[in-house]
Amino acid sequence: MEVYRGIPVYPGVVIGPALLLDTEGYLIPQRSISASEVVAEFERLKIGIRDAAIEVRSNQAIIAAKVGTQYGAILGAHAQMIEDPFLLGEIESLISKKFFTAEYALSLVMRKHIKEIQSLPDARMALCVTDLFDIEKQILGKLIGQRKEGLNSLNEPVVILAHDLSPSETAKLNTKLVHAFATEAGGRTSHTSILAGALEIPAVVGLGRFISEVTGGDIVIVDGNAGLLIIDPDAETLRRYQKTQTDIVSLDASLESLRDLPAITQDGVEIKLLGNIEFPHETKHCLDKGAQGIGLYRTEFLFMGKDAVPTEDEQFAAYKEVVQAMGKDRPVVIRTLDLGGDKLSAFSNLHAPEKNPFLGLRSIRLCLRNIGLFKTQLRAILRASVYGNIQLLFPMISTVLELRQAKMIVSEVKEDLFEEKVPFNKDIPIGTMIEVPSAAILSELMAKEVSFFSIGTNDLVQYTLAADRSNEDVASLYNPGDPAVLRLIEMVVKSAKHSNVALNVCGEMSGDLIYTMLFLGLGIRQLSVSPHSIPEIKQFIRMVNLKDAENVAKEAMRQQTARDVNNYLREQTRKLMPDSLMY
Ligand code: PEP
Ligand code: MG
Repeated sequence: MEVYRGIPVYPGVVIGPALLLDTEGYLIPQRSISASEVVAEFERLKIGIRDAAIEVRSNQAIIAAKVGTQYGAILGAHAQMIEDPFLLGEIESLISKKFFTAEYALSLVMRKHIKEIQSLPDARMALCVTDLFDIEKQILGKLIGQRKEGLNSLNEPVVILAHDLSPSETAKLNTKLVHAFATEAGGRTSHTSILAGALEIPAVVGLGRFISEVTGGDIVIVDGNAGLLIIDPDAETLRRYQKTQTDIVSLDASLESLRDLPAITQDGVEIKLLGNIEFPHETKHCLDKGAQGIGLYRTEFLFMGKDAVPTEDEQFAAYKEVVQAMGKDRPVVIRTLDLGGDKLSAFSNLHAPEKNPFLGLRSIRLCLRNIGLFKTQLRAILRASVYGNIQLLFPMISTVLELRQAKMIVSEVKEDLFEEKVPFNKDIPIGTMIEVPSAAILSELMAKEVSFFSIGTNDLVQYTLAADRSNEDVASLYNPGDPAVLRLIEMVVKSAKHSNVALNVCGEMSGDLIYTMLFLGLGIRQLSVSPHSIPEIKQFIRMVNLKDAENVAKEAMRQQTARDVNNYLREQTRKLMPDSLMY
């Protein structure tokens, strides 16, 4: 049994067979055969090895002709390793003794050698590891051959294990069969992680290197509460986790009774709890969990994984679906396109490759450069605004001028619609995300331009601490509890209050129980969170006394490091709610 600790991004526990997704999208298939199939499996293995060696030698010849024999020789060495009788013997032995498929046996043997090399102190050995992965891939490619499948053709439940998944790959996962995922890379608020919430599947990211330790078909446990990946669990661990699964089901059932109760503190102050969504169908999840509205609809997911930019009518249909599902009165905050950063679409005309995409032509900047695209979306949102309580939100605003430009485009679109006699809500509230430190610092001025703020802590943390939100190597720096982040939030709360501008917090921090008292104590009265977090946050709010929360916030603001802030807040939260699964 091997246990890896990473960053939990969606709670729950899943036990199931691993499906390894390598960078080419190979799925390592089933692991067992019957005794009667052993001879045929030997034959399949030999053919696979022969064909892999032929292909590598032909590539060797091409490279030798193009760049020189010495470079071709690298592939010559690969071919020799592929044909090594010792390797064949090791794989055959696993097939005949353990009745493993050729693919599974090959992977086990290669992973064993890779592990041996990785344990050597010399960092230059990393190259040999790459060679071995490459050789494995060559043979696997031939073995899987016709059976090479995409993620679209799964036919049994699996746990996806990968180095990384892009947001668009994640968005396309078939959650009927993909029950959880775990990745070596990624951070808590990377968009891949946020999508785990939209898909409602337990997930752990940022686990560091584990792929070489696991083979497709191995039984694994993804513990999305503690952030663990357990490979080949022993019997005792399996039993323990089966019990946790039952506990989670009964906890969810007990929280369900809170659905129609208000999120009201002990001393009678009501907090509004809204849901964050990425897809229209999530409105159901929000309503099931008792959301009082949609506080953030990330519309860019309409554009991702698509072959063509969605038309105005397609967008209109999506926005109308959301607002109609939520009913006439519940607010639906539709955020305009936030493409870029790690949310890249397939539309290469929109994003040229950038060296620093999170600092580049992302989000509102991209829209202000592509006015046609922006106007199409604004038309669709405005048309949908007659069906309910839609509010318009701009992402990534970093200057007052940018905000004014965006508002001007809205005015132009309104004029067009008016001339065309197309109905829309002419008083649609306009708000801005506060997710760039400059916007927080200038929030006093920003407040004069809009009717509401939504603090996007995911980006605010990233840009304040200069720590990429999706990079596991800087995950310890990327900390929402950092005093610098807290000071910026406090500043925004004061500006909003001073100018009587509504305030919402919609980053992942708002769904993290340890920050709830801090937010309440600072004066925040509206939180928009992943729908699955709503019941527990509500349960907690109903235990809090606002006076206590204010004292807690004051004390938290006195701390000097993120660690002190988090330890203090965790301790205070635990006092009120000792046995949450959330921390
Ligand atoms: C944020 O940055 O906090 C936010 C809510 O926006 P996104 O996660 O989509 O960047
Ligand atoms: Mg953001």
